[in-house]
Amino acid sequence: MQHFSLVIHGGAGTILKEDMSPELEQAYQNGLQEALDAGYAILQNGGTAVDAIQASIFTLENNILFNAGKGSVFTKKGLQEMDAAIMDGATLEAGAVAAVRNVKNPIQLATEVMRNSNHVFLSGKGANDFAIKQGVVLAPDEYFYSQFRYDQWKAIRDSDSYSLDHTNHHLEELLKDKKFGTVGAVACDSFGNIAGATSTGGMTNKKYGRIGDSPIIGSGTYANNKTCAISCTGHGEMFIRSVAAYDVSCLMEYKGLSLQAAMEVVVHEKLMALNGEGGMIGVDAKGNTAMVFNSAGMYRAFQNSKGESAIAIYK
Ligand code: ASP
Repeated sequence: MQHFSLVIHGGAGTILKEDMSPELEQAYQNGLQEALDAGYAILQNGGTAVDAIQASIFTLENNILFNAGKGSVFTKKGLQEMDAAIMDGATLEAGAVAAVRNVKNPIQLATEVMRNSNHVFLSGKGANDFAIKQGVVLAPDEYFYSQFRYDQWKAIRDSDSYSLDHTNHHLEELLKDKKFGTVGAVACDSFGNIAGATSTGGMTNKKYGRIGDSPIIGSGTYANNKTCAISCTGHGEMFIRSVAAYDVSCLMEYKGLSLQAAMEVVVHEKLMALNGEGGMIGVDAKGNTAMVFNSAGMYRAFQNSKGESAIAIYK
């Protein structure tokens, strides 16, 4: 029987139990559970991997706790510019958007690019024009606002530094304490097709139109039925330089590594060699799943048709 499975993440980084109140921890767990339920219900009803990951990401983008959609971090100019990508491992079709504003669910726009354009990657104003043409739901600036992301940004906006996503409000803590709130999902459906997607607000105080790994096919997001579907989170520059998601696929295809082994090589050896903090989630077309990270924590969860499931935050 073909097993199906779903894995999601809500970002990796210096996520420590001692920094977390029981209420906040519960809120993160609820957010992950809700996303898992939304995607898994689709797989259980015979739906596709693409639809399942889209449903999971929708709920995470709509949750103010995560750095994607509502609650995205602020750029140097005090704006929210979001990136997202989705890839279908059955067809190798992909869609991605970068630096889009006021798009309620950037993953919806990335899916529109994949399904209804001749392109793979749209950015900025052009991507927004395409959103309007496709009737993608837009939202005003206030919708994306969250006080704690604003405070994070305020603490460093007069400096030249840019930072990964944090939940601390104090500058010193902010700079030493790295957290990433990007969201992602990968799934294997009952047809044996796999897909992966990632959505993010990127890094606090980013400027010059900085784009991270999340929307870059092969770096932050990748899917190929022959090998794996991967969604990454972490310090994007290093994931771009190591072509992290595609490297997992290559290790499986050319070296015959298992999903878990390939992800461990990329996360613990290749990314570590570049000081690249973060992690990734993956599935293969047999429904195997893996969640690997080199940071203190990663918001993560999985469920499969063998009856296994888990939600975890810390190492
Ligand atoms: N990888 C994302 C970026 O660099 C950040 C994250 O994962 O939180 O934009």
